[in-house]
Amino acid sequence: MSAGKDRGAAPVVVASDVRMGYNGVQVLNGVNLTVAPGEVSCIIGPSGSGKSTFLRCVNGLEPVLGGSLRVLGEEVGHTLRDGRYHPWTPKEFAAFRRNIGMVFQRFNLFAHQSALENVACGPVHVLGMSQDRARTLAMEHLDRVGLADHAHKRPHQLSGGQQQRVAIARALAMKPTLMLFDEPTSALDPELVDEVLEVMKGLAAEGMTMVVVTHEIAFAREVGDRLTFFADGVVVEEGRPRDLLAAPEHERTRAFLSSVQ
Ligand code: ADP
Ligand code: MG
Repeated sequence: MSAGKDRGAAPVVVASDVRMGYNGVQVLNGVNLTVAPGEVSCIIGPSGSGKSTFLRCVNGLEPVLGGSLRVLGEEVGHTLRDGRYHPWTPKEFAAFRRNIGMVFQRFNLFAHQSALENVACGPVHVLGMSQDRARTLAMEHLDRVGLADHAHKRPHQLSGGQQQRVAIARALAMKPTLMLFDEPTSALDPELVDEVLEVMKGLAAEGMTMVVVTHEIAFAREVGDRLTFFADGVVVEEGRPRDLLAAPEHERTRAFLSSVQ
């Protein structure tokens, strides 16, 4: 169990019958999922089942076309005012996203910048922090992910695991309330997976609210509070990781688990 869990507080994510599609092709067919503050919510499911799309909706990067998606107390994409829904302006989207850190399978670091500059960049350019303050903060975050000694290196001088830890530090430097991870270890050589999972485990222990799309079943079992199985754009089943992994109710879940374990 994570340190900061507070089941009495308002949920961080409430997805109710969320629908989304690309060019008329439905991808999310009514997703229902709730994430409580401090919870580590793991999502598994076959490729193409809509996991990334769902994370992108939570982050406001894709429009929700049906149902309701409330994140950090707001209906993503619009505000109810004077009895009418007003679509967010780009500025309102940007303000919303500032609270959410996202870590991708590919690290998306700036190739021409050092690890330190990659981490300091957001606080300077988005939060308006001074260079000095941002660099001090960036050093603290790099230290937190075990990379203080590599702060001056550029991405190509770092291993995949180190690059992914820089990406996590970069997200944390923005002081997010919610962290989204989209298969953060899928692109890594097997021997580099654990160092990234250890950083995520540390974050979970500190009480960070996290939604983690992953194929790392052992991580989900050990660190996850909830485990959700996606298929065909819906939640097939969800539960406590240990329960769901030990006794999946649906044949679809059983088949998937036997393919990844
Ligand atoms: P997952 O992350 O579970 O593998 P995705 O959310 O990436 O699944 O994709 C779900 C479906 O949506 C897939 O069929 C994929 O081809 C389609 N899709 C994803 N992104 C786009 C896009 N930008 N444009 C059109 N179709 C997309
Ligand atoms: Mg994906």
